[in-house]
Amino acid sequence: MIQQRLVNLYDLMTAHCLDGIVVTKPENRQYFSGFTGSSGMLVISRQSPRLLTDFRYLEQAKQQAPLYQIIRHGTAIYDTLAESVKGLGLGRIGFESDFITWEVYQKLSDCLGETELLPVKLDGLRIVKDQKELALLTKAVAIADSAFNDALKMIKPGITELDIALELEYQMRKLGAEKPAFDTIVASGLRSALPHGRASNKIIEAGNLITIDFGAVFEGYHSDMTRTVVVGTATDKQREIYNIVLVAQLAGINAVKAGKTGKEVDQIARQVIDDAGYSKYFGHGLGHGVGLFIHEEPRLSPSGDIKLAQGMVVSVEPGIYLPGWGGVRIEDLVVVSADGCTILTASSKDLIELG
Ligand code: ZN
Ligand code: ZN
Repeated sequence: MIQQRLVNLYDLMTAHCLDGIVVTKPENRQYFSGFTGSSGMLVISRQSPRLLTDFRYLEQAKQQAPLYQIIRHGTAIYDTLAESVKGLGLGRIGFESDFITWEVYQKLSDCLGETELLPVKLDGLRIVKDQKELALLTKAVAIADSAFNDALKMIKPGITELDIALELEYQMRKLGAEKPAFDTIVASGLRSALPHGRASNKIIEAGNLITIDFGAVFEGYHSDMTRTVVVGTATDKQREIYNIVLVAQLAGINAVKAGKTGKEVDQIARQVIDDAGYSKYFGHGLGHGVGLFIHEEPRLSPSGDIKLAQGMVVSVEPGIYLPGWGGVRIEDLVVVSADGCTILTASSKDLIELG
């Protein structure tokens, strides 16, 4: 897998007439080398890919990145980088312009002297997931599904949103997750009208809608799911709004297919909400790519120009948020295929009435 990813990098180097690329973004460092340590830099060249890291990570780097020559750096990482670049005779090297800060750019340019630095973006090379990545994403999704199933059992009036978030996070860790994919969202009652209401100490009350949006990280890969549940019996209005969001979500999933743009898929789900008269209350995109980072390309949104391709993994997550009333969102992760998509998230989407 890493070998193929390196070949893709070499192709990008050829396309940009580069002799090498310095990779510093943590997700890309892991993707192109296998190394998961928190510090290090890749110097990619056709002669020999190198991984520069400090003494804390030498053994780990050797184990995780066998295709790389591991080079230890001390406090002067840029001097070590310059030695590598000069030793390899690299005249034109790419740097990640969407990640390197101005300050780091200055340091790179000072230490590299005559070497030309050119901006490149590498995230696009991660947009289609390979078999190994799909397996890790599937596992991250299964952990979240299982944790959700457990957390449902403890939801009742009197506990707080934070109690639910803690239970989800505890269960996910027990199932092998490294950490939550992002700050767990548990938004109940009027707070469910906040699309990104982080769990608070608000007490759950009978009749509340609760929007729960969370995920697990497994070996660096993120999952992302949302379910909205009702404590007690749903009112007609709660059921009506839930059903509109569900129909929109199913329409979005049905529209996902290789060859469609993110914009086209977004429009199909959005139309359902527009037709029901709630267009003003769905103010975010339909979905996003997910992988080593929680929000990646491609975007399913009114500005999503990228064409979907087989092996991309995206969320489909419409919502309706009514200020002063509450909100509903439903989110699954799906894998794009030639004739549609495969849904990874397994939790039921029937409206769950608890208690
Ligand atoms: Zn989410
Ligand atoms: Zn999401």
